[in-house]
Amino acid sequence: MDLTYTPEQQTFRKEARAWLEANVPAEPLPSFDTEIGFAAHCEWEKTLNAGGFAMVPWPKQYGGRGSDLLEWLIFEEEYYRAGAPGRVNQNGIFLLGPTIMEYGTPEQKARFLPRMASSEEVWAQGWSEPNAGSDMANIQATAIRDGDDYVINGQKTWASRGAYAHWLFGMFRTDPESSRHHGLTFILVPLDAEGITVRPIEKINGKKAFAEVFFDDARVSAEHKLGEEGQGWNVAMATAGFERGLMLRSPARFQNTARKLIDLYRETVERGGFVDSTLRDTVARCWMDAEAYALNTYQTVSRMLGGGKIGAEASLNKIFWSELDIRMHEAALSLLDARAELLPDSPAADAVGDWLEGYIFALAGPIYAGTNEIQRNIIAERILGLPRK
Ligand SMILES: Cc1cc2nc3c(=O)[nH]c(=O)nc-3n(C[C@H](O)[C@H](O)[C@H](O)COP(=O)(O)OP(=O)(O)OC[C@H]3O[C@@H](n4cnc5c(N)ncnc54)[C@H](O)[C@@H]3O)c2cc1C
Repeated sequence: MDLTYTPEQQTFRKEARAWLEANVPAEPLPSFDTEIGFAAHCEWEKTLNAGGFAMVPWPKQYGGRGSDLLEWLIFEEEYYRAGAPGRVNQNGIFLLGPTIMEYGTPEQKARFLPRMASSEEVWAQGWSEPNAGSDMANIQATAIRDGDDYVINGQKTWASRGAYAHWLFGMFRTDPESSRHHGLTFILVPLDAEGITVRPIEKINGKKAFAEVFFDDARVSAEHKLGEEGQGWNVAMATAGFERGLMLRSPARFQNTARKLIDLYRETVERGGFVDSTLRDTVARCWMDAEAYALNTYQTVSRMLGGGKIGAEASLNKIFWSELDIRMHEAALSLLDARAELLPDSPAADAVGDWLEGYIFALAGPIYAGTNEIQRNIIAERILGLPRK
């Protein structure tokens, strides 16, 4: 593997860095899990799109710049380096976008991708149901064909960004006689359609981070099915591969946290705070693991550029980044000592940053995108070849 950047990649990095330095908001935006923060993030993503940086690997006609995935990794490194806002439309651009690219009709690509790139339309992922979380094949929500429409009934839950999003992608049972992963279809649903009720769910910090979505005879055009009817499971597995294996958590995110952790370690040493050799080793280990994750991702991308696909190894990846994120935040809280319990806006917070909020969110990492127990099952069966029982 050649780890040097080409002159073109270096030029791209410079261009991205200059644009971000000139355009990233000076002050952090309010959380995208609030109404005002959601609007501010959509506005930022519009600016990003106008600058040509919304989703660099997409073809130009859909709002990208036709870069390859290596340039996307470079862009992500620059994005985190610049302290740019989190992507409110991450479910759209990182998960659904690549899936539409693979399974969508030309009309669907033209209809959905540009508006996704500009975040004119923000997406929620509607997979989980009250009785279908880890056991996703137990989906009960139905979409029954009636003329040119599907008539949808049932409930989805835990839809991140669902409180404010415009569209939802999900799997629905189009064959009511079917069971498990058969008879499911991947459908794109406008959340303002009649018969749809969105009820926000608050996170531990009081922000409306999720929604449950109820469908009562909601009619959705059959043109909005993605892939073949009854083949939803295969389409969804492609989305899950992008989510766990590559796009949802680019290495730059963790390298950035690791850099902040090193800075915090140095500050703690300088002010005479408590640091023992175990903590020092933990901090060094976190930094090395973030670098290892980055190198592993470069390897995955090189394989994909050579025509490879993301397979069951995406599960290894997901366990690695989610556990690393917790370890990094735990180390930071240990360094902060008693100040660890302060939120950034507390009067005595000084420079505690958002470590506590970050820690609380990191704890969700082993749950979302498929729990780590389920990932371990996948690794056991599909990579190690162990028996199911
Ligand atoms: C921050 C966050 C964001 C989320 N965003 C979304 C979203 O946008 N869209 C969406 O659809 N969902 C979302 N989810 C939901 C998430 O996908 C589910 O919580 C997850 O799949 C687990 O499902 P469950 O909560 O029903 O738990 P369950 O499936 O009931 O699992 C409970 C526990 O049992 C374990 N378990 C279950 N089955 C097995 C098994 N076969 N072997 C070993 N252990 C098992 C699980 O690992 C878990 O520890 C989000 C969740 C979180 C925390």
